[in-house]
Amino acid sequence: MKTKENFTQGLEKEIGQCIRCGFCQAVCPVYETTFRPAHSARGRMLLLKEVMEGTIPPLKELADPFYNCTTCQACTYSCPAQIKVAQVVEGTRKKLYEAGYTPAPLLGMKDNILKTGNVFAGAREKRIELYPPRLKEKAQKGELKARAGTLLFMGCVPSYGDLKIVPSLVETLEDGVVDYTTLAMEEVCCGFPLYLMGAGEFEIHGKKIIQQIQATGAGELVTPCAGCYKTFTQLYPKIGDLGLKVYHSVQYLDRLIGEGRIQLKGQGPRTVTYQDPCDLGRSLGIFEEPRNILKNVPDFILVEMTRNRLQARCCGGGGGLQADNPEAAHQMAARRVKDALAVGAELLVCACAACKNNLKKGARLLPKGERNRIKIVDITEVAAEAMA
Ligand code: SF4
Ligand code: SF4
Repeated sequence: MKTKENFTQGLEKEIGQCIRCGFCQAVCPVYETTFRPAHSARGRMLLLKEVMEGTIPPLKELADPFYNCTTCQACTYSCPAQIKVAQVVEGTRKKLYEAGYTPAPLLGMKDNILKTGNVFAGAREKRIELYPPRLKEKAQKGELKARAGTLLFMGCVPSYGDLKIVPSLVETLEDGVVDYTTLAMEEVCCGFPLYLMGAGEFEIHGKKIIQQIQATGAGELVTPCAGCYKTFTQLYPKIGDLGLKVYHSVQYLDRLIGEGRIQLKGQGPRTVTYQDPCDLGRSLGIFEEPRNILKNVPDFILVEMTRNRLQARCCGGGGGLQADNPEAAHQMAARRVKDALAVGAELLVCACAACKNNLKKGARLLPKGERNRIKIVDITEVAAEAMA
């Protein structure tokens, strides 16, 4: 068992700053779902204070409050002390992992990543299953370009868990005459889930991928996955240098539109709204690029949900919560779909495959009459359809 001294080591400053005001509780999507005080930022900070002061030992029961967090950072933006709760949660998860307290579903995911290269334990050859036919054939024959200016990094959820994102992204880039290649069957998980669960293996895993990407000689990388984007831009720089510019698909598509390389056509009037993924929005400040894309689709009427941008309500799809507590994650998603319905949206547009997947599951909790009024799509699908 870890001692209380090293369990809270490095987190003392943040723990000491909490004034127990509880403002964070009002915005925490997990507390809003479970109503358990230990599932709010305030509760987590109080627990750590007790551990730090030796009032309670660092028991395995701490895993429940610290893994029931989507690391959405909504609390930080409502906290008068601006405590970086997501970082405290991630730091505590490292200690929990070292102590052997990580929940089994997350450990299963870790084994999948380390043994098979993806979170689902899917076969390697299935990673190219959703490539458009011509690209897939080239990948199967090993005829993809060894070098190209742009490397497409698809991510696990778009590759194995979503039918539309990969073909849509490839179509839009081909339309924009982008010189691209992919890692095809050699692409493996970026390691973000390892980082989120606190697994020390993240660093070795990430260093291997940095070498693999460097070897392509590409000058830029595009990914449709918010988690991969955050990993490449925020986490990898602490362990190595990718040596290229990283774009999320929303940034890249916005750039192609701005340069006049792709044009979007109208599909008839539709009311659309955008869900800010926490890993792109609050985490990295990417708010306007996706909205620019949607504003460029003629006839689209872009409406905002009451909580948007920095105040956006987390859909529950991040932080590893979908694996550890899927029921809570789906309830949060249902609440977010209702937010979109409340502003009359017919399309709820995401820019994160994990958000899309979770929102679709959440929508299933709503009565048929409500869920049938809205379609949940990724922004790459919107762009591909508007080009067709
Ligand atoms: S990061 Fe999000 S889920 Fe975690 S405590 Fe803060 S508001 Fe709640
Ligand atoms: S808002 Fe900040 S200071 Fe207040 S209880 Fe929450 S974490 Fe502590």
